[in-house]
Amino acid sequence: MPIKTHIRTIEDHPKPGIQFRDITTLLKDPVGFRLTIQELEKHYRGLDIDKVAGIESRGFIIGAPLAFALGVGFIPIRKQGKLPAKTKGQDYDLEYGSDRVEVHIDAIEPNDKVLVVDDLIATGGTAKASIDVLEALGAHIVECAFVIDLPDLGGHKKLEEHGYKVHTLCAFEGH
Ligand code: AMP
Repeated sequence: MPIKTHIRTIEDHPKPGIQFRDITTLLKDPVGFRLTIQELEKHYRGLDIDKVAGIESRGFIIGAPLAFALGVGFIPIRKQGKLPAKTKGQDYDLEYGSDRVEVHIDAIEPNDKVLVVDDLIATGGTAKASIDVLEALGAHIVECAFVIDLPDLGGHKKLEEHGYKVHTLCAFEGH
């Protein structure tokens, strides 16, 4: 599994008990990075997709080259207050506190078929908030793609229970 073996685990980052799955070791490897984008491109080539939406910030690193490879547009889903034009936002709960994702309201045309991309799915809170804001702007979500799945955190299952298709390239046990 060349993709998984290139991902580094940092214990107790950013806080005790979290195993941080670090993709910088995958990205710096020219074969690993290329393979990651190619695997996703292979899965999505030929599907009816208008735009790739990448979630800040590691979703940009995966989503932008994927959009380029598929020959479709890219839109950034950003954290609060970063986008310069008029936005629509969605709040979501974190373990402690809350966060907010925002998208430019003119990023989506009605019925755009959108692929949502991030580096990792854990609880699925970030992805679900991103889906909600895209759908509120009229998008149809084709699928959600992640390099890494943390199945024990339940996000993959949660998105599927909401009726969304989920595609991941590798999985790690635990938190
Ligand atoms: P969640 O909303 O719980 O699915 O968390 C997903 C977001 O948090 C993604 O943008 C990830 O980059 C980041 N994230 C959550 N858990 C981890 C982890 N163990 N290692 C690296 N990134 C993580």
